[in-house]
Amino acid sequence: MITTEKVSIKVQQTTNSRVGELDYNKIIFGHQFSDHMFLVDYNDGVWHDAQIIPYGPVPMSPATSALHYGQAIFEGMKAYKNDKGEVFLFRPYDNHKRINISAERMAMATIPEEIFMEGLKQLISLDKGWVPDTDGSSLYIRPFIIGTDEFIGVKPSDNYRFYIITSPAGKYYNAPVKVLVETNYIRAVEGGVGYVKASGNYGRSLFPTKLAQQRGYQQIIWTDSKNHRYLEESGTMNLMVVIDDVLITPPIGDTILAGITRDSVLTLARDWKMKVQERKISIDEVIDAHKRGTLEEMFGTGTAATIAHIASFGFEGKDYELPATEGRIFSNRVAQELENIRKGKSEDKHNWMVKID
Ligand SMILES: *Cc1c(COP(=O)(O)O)cnc(C)c1O
Repeated sequence: MITTEKVSIKVQQTTNSRVGELDYNKIIFGHQFSDHMFLVDYNDGVWHDAQIIPYGPVPMSPATSALHYGQAIFEGMKAYKNDKGEVFLFRPYDNHKRINISAERMAMATIPEEIFMEGLKQLISLDKGWVPDTDGSSLYIRPFIIGTDEFIGVKPSDNYRFYIITSPAGKYYNAPVKVLVETNYIRAVEGGVGYVKASGNYGRSLFPTKLAQQRGYQQIIWTDSKNHRYLEESGTMNLMVVIDDVLITPPIGDTILAGITRDSVLTLARDWKMKVQERKISIDEVIDAHKRGTLEEMFGTGTAATIAHIASFGFEGKDYELPATEGRIFSNRVAQELENIRKGKSEDKHNWMVKID
């Protein structure tokens, strides 16, 4: 365990803010970055020299180990602005815990809570003007850690760098998606790294997703690696279905990432006395429910979209349509309630929101 003194962050403010150039109505996700970024280095067993500097390119040796052997992990989270102009983070301590779970699995240095939280708070506070306040909008936050040894031998890096960059996000256009139940390629295996946010998990998913898109689907529903029978995740989101008024989602394990949105959705469902089951769910059960007319809802959950409705799914050459999204009671209600909590319009009963001064 690394002990740190009270975190002091050296701040170099930009003299050339770009915030005035931002048109909140025309934000394309992930292309624009706010004025500043946070970074801190890990060498000789200590995190040191935390700093906030103007956003921009950082020189890096071509031998940087993360580029070769994939010691690269990340988080995704958001800051929200309410009607009073106050800025809040949503469940940031959970993101901190999770990045360290990822770090351990990838044999990387873990980041102390004080550095993670203090870096976040000071960075978001400085770039408050970049947090949009329009309906459904937010500031997307991307913390990440990379191995920085200048060495191309295979071993855990001795040196690391932790960064936080942020990017304004407009209202996510929640067009219902057409998904393909994938029975050839796999995302995650037992004993593997599917439960952590390792960059390589994303890299490996791109080719199967591209093939699905060529066949007219937007996303994949991944299935278990052994039998391709059990549903796992939807693209890079957790998957949920509502059958006969019961909310069902695959249990957390080696191959399922513990989504914070997933947990929030399950918590609200339980608050509302809905029946919730965290258990394996097979494609046969879903098709059977579809036949009986009891498959009410199917959706992905994740930070980017909160809820992504699934319009239809394809399996073994056949497409199965779900009921119109307007009539889906649970997923629409939970999406609205999460938005209300984040924007201060509903009570934050579970203390999810952390205020930025
Ligand atoms: C990040 C991620 C999710 C969603 O997690 P949230 O904390 O809800 O954003 C789900 N599945 C995978 C594979 C992910 O990487």
